[in-house]
Amino acid sequence: MKKEINIIFFGAPGAGKGTQAKKMSCELKLPHIDTGSLIREAITNKTELGIRAQQFVESGKLVPDNLVINLIKEKLIILKDRNFNGFILDGFPRTIPQADALKTLLEELKLELTYVLNIQAPENILIKRLSSRRLCSNKNCGAIFNLITKRPKEENKCDLCGSPLYQRKDDTEEAAKERLNEYHNKTAPLEKYYRDQNKLADIAGTKDSEDVYNEIIKILYLCQ
Ligand SMILES: [Zn+2]
Repeated sequence: MKKEINIIFFGAPGAGKGTQAKKMSCELKLPHIDTGSLIREAITNKTELGIRAQQFVESGKLVPDNLVINLIKEKLIILKDRNFNGFILDGFPRTIPQADALKTLLEELKLELTYVLNIQAPENILIKRLSSRRLCSNKNCGAIFNLITKRPKEENKCDLCGSPLYQRKDDTEEAAKERLNEYHNKTAPLEKYYRDQNKLADIAGTKDSEDVYNEIIKILYLCQ
């Protein structure tokens, strides 16, 4: 691939964007900008933005958009100073105002989005994926299983320590439906936003993750 690849991963919770973003980052050596980690990193490093973000995180509030966009800006400026080959953005933008702010930032940094990869899967599959996580009840072990992708060898028993597995409240079917509702209300309008800008590439997220990845790579090579 000749030029830089600037990608946003987009899709409902459970569509598999995190998995794909990590794989792509690893194989194409593209920096993976995940806003959750970005915030945690800034807090740990006690940067000016990190100290401000910490106040919101500690009081259980969402870190405001302008702070997140400034964290992304800081990161992109650092990346651009090195052998810049592009970036993968995951978990941002989630709303139209965030997308507008990102657009302004990319223009300022003279970066162009290559694609917004829209990983799609039907609701029943998403709910099943989101409610299939099981955790080891032994706090010293903390192993994580998934009834679809990483089944425990024995039902409801940790492979590593034999303790019973449990389902977190955030991982129940009810919680999954709530997350998907929120996604439809706040984030789904971005689909049209990016489609209107001719940036959206639809990818079927129902196949297994290897096939989804190969499809993404095909699309990226075709666009070059
Ligand atoms: Zn265990």
